[in-house]
Amino acid sequence: MNKVDLRQKYQAVIGLEVHIQLATDSKMFSPEGFQFGESPNTFLSAVTIAHPGSLPTINKNIISCAVKLGLATNCKINQENFFARKNYFYPDLPKGYQLTQDNTPICKNGFLDIPIKGDQQKRIRIQRIHIEEDAGKSIHDQHEHFSMIDLNRAGVGLVELVTHPDISNPEEAATFMAEIRRIVRFLEISDGNMEEGSLRCDANVSVKLKEEEKLGTRAEIKNINSFSQVNRSVTFEINRQVALVESGGTVVQETRTWDTANQRTLSMRRKEEADDYRYFPEPDLLPLKISAEELAEIQASLPILPQKLEKVYVQELALAKHEVSTLLEDKALSDFFEEMRTVGREVKAYANWLLGPVKAWMNETQSSITAFPLSPTKLVSLIDLVQNGKLSHNLAKKSVFPELLESPASSVEEIATAQGAFEKKEGTELAETISYLLEEFPNEVEKFKRGKKGVSGFFIGQLMKKTKGKANPKVANKMVMDALKAATKTS
Ligand code: ADP
Ligand code: MG
Repeated sequence: MNKVDLRQKYQAVIGLEVHIQLATDSKMFSPEGFQFGESPNTFLSAVTIAHPGSLPTINKNIISCAVKLGLATNCKINQENFFARKNYFYPDLPKGYQLTQDNTPICKNGFLDIPIKGDQQKRIRIQRIHIEEDAGKSIHDQHEHFSMIDLNRAGVGLVELVTHPDISNPEEAATFMAEIRRIVRFLEISDGNMEEGSLRCDANVSVKLKEEEKLGTRAEIKNINSFSQVNRSVTFEINRQVALVESGGTVVQETRTWDTANQRTLSMRRKEEADDYRYFPEPDLLPLKISAEELAEIQASLPILPQKLEKVYVQELALAKHEVSTLLEDKALSDFFEEMRTVGREVKAYANWLLGPVKAWMNETQSSITAFPLSPTKLVSLIDLVQNGKLSHNLAKKSVFPELLESPASSVEEIATAQGAFEKKEGTELAETISYLLEEFPNEVEKFKRGKKGVSGFFIGQLMKKTKGKANPKVANKMVMDALKAATKTS
């Protein structure tokens, strides 16, 4: 059977476990900070390296991050939580157990609607979101005989979000991840950077015959850390399982890894029975209660979420889909746009400027919009001059804007006046009107050619009529003479 027919015959079923590293000043249960890419083993406290007698304390900020994510994804918030020890031995975990939430995930039963083909929305249900601490990192490629360990990441706060198996293809999986990234960035709880590992996921994949109700056996692809990997690894895994089933084999429940070099998934370990982690409640921490007041406070602190802004941008402002997604990929950029919207009315032009010259500035200087020298108000005042017809778009973009960036303390008017930009605008308009008049009155042009220089007065009169007397007479005089001379020379 060819690939298309097989796609008709089978249905893929996908559930994601998304790990989000929280951008907090200190770790989950200890006071030290953490920064990606710093020297190994520099962010360590007694708690992290499990000195006897050291005790954990809960970082409240992490609780609020998790609650924010839960509220943003329509979850019920569990107000009585406890932490549990998940016991296993691994060098990247000095305590010999990971602190996590077992039966009391902080958030449950939510959902997220994602856009799918044909302007449709699809609801992906969320089983739970729980908090846990991250482990350190083993490094196997720096020494011939030994593995190295970097414990910087150990103890950093993570949330894990688990979906129901509602995702049906690799594109939906990638869209879901992109939606999560946008949300965590808007909530400012994580940088959502997949390349640096602050956002990663495990994808559970199974296939079944279309008409079959029962789900197939799943394989879990671990630690996917880029959007293209989400797409490719899930696609590969679906194809692998379909081929296996077609050839009479059976899928076994196992953990697989994505082999980037060869673009395939490889078996890591079988998972015939559930691992026994001997979960038990952490005796060194009190149960964690979230009061109704705390919950209300967090709810009140939520920003407008990207999905809501998206609706406004598309439906009310009629911005194009790609403009909207670029604006909403970056919370700071969207904040900037929102401020411009509160100051002025030319929203479409503001979006064009942000996605054009401003984005170009960001790319050239490798900076975030937060480092942009102009305030939203100042940028609005420049754009409004163009929109009101006082400044030509080209001059504003190529001449006034760059100088404004050099001296952001000056006003737009000061710079435009100093550059003569207003007159130039007037000049181009006059020139256009004059050439229009020359076309309208060819007989007068003919008279000028035959030596009747006084005809220029006729054109000045017409010009003053057309510009309602606004044209500068001296400038107008010279321009009319020049235009007449040019017109009669060529013909
Ligand atoms: P575990 O902790 O063993 O990974 P969970 O119950 O937490 O198991 O489920 C993990 C993920 O597997 C969830 O995202 C769920 O939606 C997904 N899942 C469960 N059954 C299937 C299946 N048959 N096919 C694909 N995904 C599945
Ligand atoms: Mg799992």
